[in-house]
Amino acid sequence: MSCSISRYFSKQAWRSLITQGGINYCIVLTCGDKNRVTTMKKDSVRETLQLLRKLQSEPHESGYSGYAEYYPGSEDSCIILTAPHGGNIKPDVIPDRCKTCCNNSVPGCKFGQSKYSVSLVRDTFTLEMAITLRSELSAMLGERPHLVICNLNRRKLDVNRDLDNGAQHNPHAERAWRDYHAFIKLARGRVARNCGRGVIFDIHGQSHPEKLVELGYALSSDQLHSIPHPEHSSIRCLCHCSKYRFENILRGPQSLGARLNMEGFISVPSPLHPTPPAKYYSGGYTVQEWGSSRCSTVDAIQLELPYHVREAYKRTGVVIASVLADFITDMYILNTCYLNMRQSQVSRRCFSQLFWDFVERLLYI
Ligand SMILES: [Zn+2]
Repeated sequence: MSCSISRYFSKQAWRSLITQGGINYCIVLTCGDKNRVTTMKKDSVRETLQLLRKLQSEPHESGYSGYAEYYPGSEDSCIILTAPHGGNIKPDVIPDRCKTCCNNSVPGCKFGQSKYSVSLVRDTFTLEMAITLRSELSAMLGERPHLVICNLNRRKLDVNRDLDNGAQHNPHAERAWRDYHAFIKLARGRVARNCGRGVIFDIHGQSHPEKLVELGYALSSDQLHSIPHPEHSSIRCLCHCSKYRFENILRGPQSLGARLNMEGFISVPSPLHPTPPAKYYSGGYTVQEWGSSRCSTVDAIQLELPYHVREAYKRTGVVIASVLADFITDMYILNTCYLNMRQSQVSRRCFSQLFWDFVERLLYI
C-alpha cells in the first residue's frame, strides 16, 4: 500500500487508515499554514471514512486488490449507480497515466489517438454522492440500487475510458479496468433479467463556469443543437417504451432535467437550457458502452455535478435522490413496457444485439 501526501499542507500529519476486506485506504493530511486545515475539512474526511466503513460492512464483490468493487442491489432493483472517478488509492505499482503517449515509451501506445481525452483529475465527493444516493433511494423506493465503484485515483486508472486510454498498458490497471466493467456487466445482466428494463446513473463531477448539472445521453452538443435521434442516445430503450415523446423525455417537462430544475439544480438539457453551453460533457465510455444505444434494455445517463452540489452531498444527495426516485417511478416502475420489436423499429444490428443479450441473460440463470 502506498500513501500520498497532499502538497497543499506541510506539517502535523493526521492519518486515518482503514484496512477492511483486503482493501487499504490511506488518507494522509498534513496541516500547513496555521489553521489551513479547518475543522470543516477534518469533519469532511471523517464523514467520508464513516461512509466507506459503513459501505464496506455490506456484502460485496471485490476485484483484483480491491481496486474495483460491486455492491449488489435488491433483486428487483432496476437502478445501477456507478462512481468511476471518486477513488483515491494511488499504488506505487501503477505509474501515473500520461496525457500523451509518454514520448511513445509505451509499446503499441494508441491512446493518443483515442476519441477520448486523457484527464487525470479526480471527481471529488462523487463516491460520497453515489453512496448517499444509494442509501436514500433504498429508503425511498424500498429497493437497494446496485453500486459499482473504482477505488483507484484517476491518475492511476480511468475506467470511464477505453482500455488503452484508461489503463495505458499497465497490467495492474488493466485488471482493475476489466473487473470494473465485468461488475457493470453483471449488474446490468441482473437488472435486465429481473426487471426487463432499468437505468445506470453514472456519477461525475465537473467545474464548468456555468455551474449547471450536465446530463449526458451520449448525444453530442452538435446533435442537441439540431434534432437528435433516439437511436443514437443512451436512453434509446426508454424512448421506445415510454408514453412520452423523445423530446419530452430528453428536455421537455417530463425530463430528468426539468425535474432537477424544479428542485433548484439547474440542468442541461432541460426546458430552461435545451442546448448545452460551450463546455458540456455528453456522456463518456460508460454511458456509450453500457447504455441502450448499444441495444441493451438498460439505459444509461451521465450526471455531471458541479462542485457546490457535490461538496454538500449530505444535503443535495437527499434531494437529488428524490428527483431520481420520481423519474424512475414514472419512467420505469409505473411504465411496465417491454421493448416491442415492431413498434420500436429496431434495426437489424439491434435485433442481433438483443438476441445475444437474451442469450446472456439465460446464461446468468
Ligand atoms: Zn468524471
